Amino acid sequence: MELLYRSTRSVDAPAVTASQAILKGLADDGGLFVPERIPALSVSLEELSKMTYQEVAYEVMKLFLTDFTEEELKDCINKAYDSKFDTEDIVELVKADKAYYIELFHGATIAFKDMALSILPRFMTVAAKKNNVSKDIVILTATSGDTGKAALAGFADVEGTKIIVFYPKNGVSMIQELQMVTQKGANTHVIGITGNFDDAQSGVKAIFGDAELKAELDAKGFQFSSANSINIGRLVPQIVYYVYSYAKLLAEGEIQSGEKINIVVPTGNFGNILAAFYAKNMGLPVGKLICASNDNKVLFDFFETGCYDKNREFILTTSPSMDILISSNLERLIYRIAGDDAAKNKELMAALTAGGKYSITDDMKAKLVDFCGGYATEKETADTIKAIYEDTGYVLDTHTAVAASVYKAYVAKTGDETKTVIASTASPYKFARSVMTAIDEKYDAMKDFDLIDELTKLSGVEIPNAVKEIREAEILHKTVCDPADMKKEVLKFLGV
Ligand SMILES: *Cc1c(COP(=O)(O)O)cnc(C)c1O
Repeated sequence: MELLYRSTRSVDAPAVTASQAILKGLADDGGLFVPERIPALSVSLEELSKMTYQEVAYEVMKLFLTDFTEEELKDCINKAYDSKFDTEDIVELVKADKAYYIELFHGATIAFKDMALSILPRFMTVAAKKNNVSKDIVILTATSGDTGKAALAGFADVEGTKIIVFYPKNGVSMIQELQMVTQKGANTHVIGITGNFDDAQSGVKAIFGDAELKAELDAKGFQFSSANSINIGRLVPQIVYYVYSYAKLLAEGEIQSGEKINIVVPTGNFGNILAAFYAKNMGLPVGKLICASNDNKVLFDFFETGCYDKNREFILTTSPSMDILISSNLERLIYRIAGDDAAKNKELMAALTAGGKYSITDDMKAKLVDFCGGYATEKETADTIKAIYEDTGYVLDTHTAVAASVYKAYVAKTGDETKTVIASTASPYKFARSVMTAIDEKYDAMKDFDLIDELTKLSGVEIPNAVKEIREAEILHKTVCDPADMKKEVLKFLGV
C-alpha cells in the first residue's frame, strides 16, 4: 500500500511521496515530513529472527519507502551495508552488566550516524532519478560532531551532489574535528563556526527557509537538501536496528517471542529514540523508551513537566553529540501526540521560535506514557565508564555511558526488570580522552594519539580504521566563520 508523507506544520499542503520527502529534507513551511500512518511489520518476529541485517532492512524499509522498487531498495541496502562495516552482522549485540548493548558504531566513521548516512546518499540518487531532478543537490548539514563526518563519508564524490558541513569550532572532540577537516573529495566543504550546535542548526534551517536564495540557486542549477535527522531518509534506516536487535535476542534465546523489551537511547536531536518509537508502533514488543540526556537536560524536564524550555545555559559536556537544546525531531512526536494536528503543532513551534518554550496539553502529556526521561551529570557519566570497565572489562564511550547511567538509576527507582537494550552510539575511540581519564586521571597528561594506544591495550579492541586513517592525514579544511556568515560561506563555495 502506498505511504505518503505530510508536513508537521501544514494542514492543507499536498502529501508527497517518500522519494520527494527525501529530496526536499525539510518541508517548504519549515515543518518535518511524517508518514501518514506507521505501517505494521508484515512478517513475524520468528521470520525476522532468521534474517540477516540486510534482509531485515528490506522488510522495514519497503513499508516506508513505497515508491522505491524492490530492486532499487535492495541495491541501496546491499551497497550501503557491506564491508565498510567492520563486522559482517553490521551491528553487534554485547551483554554487559545486565543490559544488552547494541553497538551501532561499526561503520566507516565509528558513530551510529553511519547506520543511516551510508544509505541516505543512495536514496537521494535514486530519488533524483525518479523525480527527474537534474540539478545538483547541495547537502547542508549542521553537526554536533558525528553527523558531519558520516555525511561527508557518505556523499564524498557522489555524482550530482555537493556537501557543506557546519560544526561548532570549540564544541567537538579532537578526533571528531580531525575526521572532518581531513575529508577528501572535491564536492566537500567543512566549516567551523564560532558558536554552538544550536547556532549551526538554526543557521542551516534559516538558509533552507530563505525563498529568495532558493530561487537564485534554482536558476543556477542547485537544490538544497538535508542529511540531518530532520530528513525522513535518515529516520527510516534507524528503525531497522531496533527490529534487528529484537530479532537477534529472539534468535539467541535471550527472550521469548512477544516478550517486551525496554530501550534506552542517549539522546540529542531525538532522531534515534524516535526511530525506536516508530519501531514500537510497527508492532515490535517494546515497553518503555528511556530517553537519556546529559547536563543539557531539556528533554528530561520536558518529560517531567510537559514544558519544553530551551531558555537555559548551553553546557559543553564530554558527550558533545548530545549538547543540544533544540531537539528537532521532538516535533514529530509533538505532532503525533497532538493527534496529527498540524495547526496545534505549528502553534507550539511558533512559540518555541518566539519565546524559546511551549507547554503541551494534559491530553498530549497522557500520550507520553511510553517514554521516561533521565539524565546523567558529568561525574555520573565518568563514574559509569569506570565502574563498567572495572566490573566487566567493557569500555563504553561517553554517550553510551550517559545511557547506562540513566538506565541504572531507572532500575533502582522503578525495580523494572524488563530485559533492556541500550543503544551504543559511538566507539570509545572517538572520545578517547574523556573515556581514558574517566578510568584513570593519570591519562590526562598523555597526548591524544598516545591515549589511543593505551585504549587498545586496556580494552583489547583493535584500533578502528577511522582512527588509524587520521593519524597522518593532511588537514584540508581550515575555514572558520561567524554563525551570521553561514549563508555567505555557502554562496562562496557554490561560486554563486
Ligand atoms: C548523534 C548522536 C547522539 C544523539 O542522537 P540523536 O538522534 O540526535 O538523538 C548520541 N550519541 C552519539 C555518539 C551521536 O553521534
